[in-house]
Amino acid sequence: MVKALTDEQIERFRTSLESRLKGLRQGVQEEVVRSDSEHFTDVAGEVHDQEEASVAHLVIDLDLANIDRHVQEIRAIEAALLRIARGEYGICLDCGQPIPIARLEANPTAERCISCQVDYERTEALSPTQTSL
Ligand SMILES: [Zn+2]
Repeated sequence: MVKALTDEQIERFRTSLESRLKGLRQGVQEEVVRSDSEHFTDVAGEVHDQEEASVAHLVIDLDLANIDRHVQEIRAIEAALLRIARGEYGICLDCGQPIPIARLEANPTAERCISCQVDYERTEALSPTQTSL
């Protein structure tokens, strides 16, 4: 039987999740501002030929992919903080067993124990509705 987290352990996760969240929000804000200015001034304003235009699009796409990844991480952290507030943090969503602390230390936003996560990802990969955006 895996031991449930102590209050101090949960508090430690909460503190580190909150500071990670703050950093991510700041980073996303900066990236949005930067890609906006690249888009509207430097890039869009000074594209002279087709080749340059496609490079410009590539830069914008890369920035958006980066922002998108950060936004997903922000959502995962917010969900984890919500679980902490509800007293559900560190409990597997599927089997209800405590998630081992080593797993949470490696991935503080983990929602499932390893075996449930493997099952979940296998199910998700097989489901046609989950493969498209
Ligand atoms: Zn589980």
